[in-house]
Amino acid sequence: MPPFPPRLLDGKPSPTPIFWPQAIRIRTTEPQAAKIDGMRVELTLDEGGKQVFAAVDLPVASYVQKTSLIYPFKGKGIFTNAGVTNGGHRNRSGQFALDGVGLDDRYAVYVDGDGSKSTDYAGWGRTILAPAAGVVVEVRADRPDQPDPENSDPQFFAPEYPNGGDPGNHVVIDHGNGEFSLLAHFQAGSVLVKLGDHVAQGQPLGKLGSSGDTNTPHLHYQLHSGPDIVWSDGLPSTFSNVDEPVLVRGVYFDAK
Ligand SMILES: [Zn+2]
Repeated sequence: MPPFPPRLLDGKPSPTPIFWPQAIRIRTTEPQAAKIDGMRVELTLDEGGKQVFAAVDLPVASYVQKTSLIYPFKGKGIFTNAGVTNGGHRNRSGQFALDGVGLDDRYAVYVDGDGSKSTDYAGWGRTILAPAAGVVVEVRADRPDQPDPENSDPQFFAPEYPNGGDPGNHVVIDHGNGEFSLLAHFQAGSVLVKLGDHVAQGQPLGKLGSSGDTNTPHLHYQLHSGPDIVWSDGLPSTFSNVDEPVLVRGVYFDAK
């Protein structure tokens, strides 16, 4: 963790706040294939000409998902952004998040036009479903959609998100086992549930939209460890209605 407030190389304070503890994520497929159960990470940092050495021994473990999830919309789609080790979401709770864009039956992204209108998108307005049963512990339903679906205009972010990351209209479901689902960017006026509602798996929650920080109508989905959508720990997720074994950026899917 850096000293706060963070400083730039010239000693001036950073013009933007840094919200996240600095973390190093290591992307590798070898540990599982080679049944490696630990790794040693050594770091040498240069601090004003002085070398600082640090080492840590880390266990390598697999997370076993507790909740049986369905992907929260039906039909074809593509993941346009995934977790931190896939070049995607870098925040703590979203480090395994998936952005799903709905596609039509021929895997096309537009059903009309060139993407300048929300209604051009095959996924626009697709029904968003509860990925598993649970209790609604957070709901936001008052946000507008981005008027230009290709431009994430900060003017349309909620005031609490001046630096981006606004989930727009969103729902958080507590699955009752330490796992929580966040579904974000619902279409304005479409959210069907309220705080405290018990939902069943597959129950409609609202419609795919473009509220908050988004430059394509899509569903942001993440599984995480607590009710707080910012400070919980992100968890990897798989879905019983999606066949693809690895869900990363660029993967096409057909959710049954
Ligand atoms: Zn996202």
